[in-house]
Amino acid sequence: MTIELDPLMTWGIVVCALVVLVAAFLLGRRSGIRRTLNSVRRFVHPANLSDSEVSDAARYRAALIVNPTKTDVRRLASTAEAICRFEGWNPPLVFETTIDDSGEGATIRALDEGVDVVIAAGGDGTIRAVASALAGSSTPMGIVPLGTGNLLARNIDLVLDKTEWALRIALWGRNREIDVGAARIAADGDSHVFTVMTGLGFDAAVMADTNDELKSRLGWLAYVEAGSRKLAGKPSHVKVTFDDDYRISARVRSVLGGNCGRLQGGIQLLPQAVIDDGMLDVLIVSPKNLGQWVGVLASIAGRRASKGLHTNIRKCQKVVIESREELDVQLDGDPIGQSSYLEMEVRPSALTVRVPTVEQRKQIRADAWPV
Ligand SMILES: [Mg+2]
Repeated sequence: MTIELDPLMTWGIVVCALVVLVAAFLLGRRSGIRRTLNSVRRFVHPANLSDSEVSDAARYRAALIVNPTKTDVRRLASTAEAICRFEGWNPPLVFETTIDDSGEGATIRALDEGVDVVIAAGGDGTIRAVASALAGSSTPMGIVPLGTGNLLARNIDLVLDKTEWALRIALWGRNREIDVGAARIAADGDSHVFTVMTGLGFDAAVMADTNDELKSRLGWLAYVEAGSRKLAGKPSHVKVTFDDDYRISARVRSVLGGNCGRLQGGIQLLPQAVIDDGMLDVLIVSPKNLGQWVGVLASIAGRRASKGLHTNIRKCQKVVIESREELDVQLDGDPIGQSSYLEMEVRPSALTVRVPTVEQRKQIRADAWPV
């Protein structure tokens, strides 16, 4: 049976479909239900609200969580406030991190206030703390990179040295879902979120032994200094179990689980790591002497770590490392003590981050005045 439509009805359907598509495109450009509702609210403009009430209701609010050891908080807060005002947002809520709360508690308070984005301003430690409170929620994280490594920012191609642009991207950037890792140092212990890499052994011992004063003066070279002092250590006997299934025993210097693998200076520690593939890339480093370390460094520099004689990389969703002795553990570069157990698991698409839009990238490259 065929249904015949008269030409007027056909045109009516086509026009309706076009109107729906254009409306969906315009509303969808600024994703998020709240934004869409705000657009509708602005369109409807109810008579019982004054102009200022309508515009207040339609404005967004950011929370800025700052590590005060990395920057002048008052200056950054006043820059953020000026940009928010200029962009039509409410003034941001500003929280400083402390020794007791490196950002997680402040993020939870910000979420309770119903903010539209939480901006982490600090190093990878601050970003990890904010990410652990945001993981699993739909509230996006903006990043103002102020640390030594800024590894998450590097791995998602954010601008590293343009604070004002970092703030604008946090407000109006594109939402991108990425994976996070969850690590445990006891089988029944608390789980800690990481966004870049967690490791047991040599890498963590280097992080634990890096001189903070040297780090603030020399940046990443301070890690090289600490690393050279640790190279001559002994390998440890470990059992590594992938996905509760495949187990190997080995004498290793370090086992690292990475969500992404780009380090400073363009070094790709985990060349195949993808930040949103739902997998962890596990690197096992097992040189027995200084000569073999040279081979390890050469294979990492040549992006051949997955095939090196003393390195091995394997993708998995979960890995458990059990050692005969207590070894140092680090999460995104923060030493968290020693353990003979480390479990890492990927949480796919758990975190939304704000990254530059195509237009923003063009403007940044051209060093254009932001519009
Ligand atoms: Mg991955």
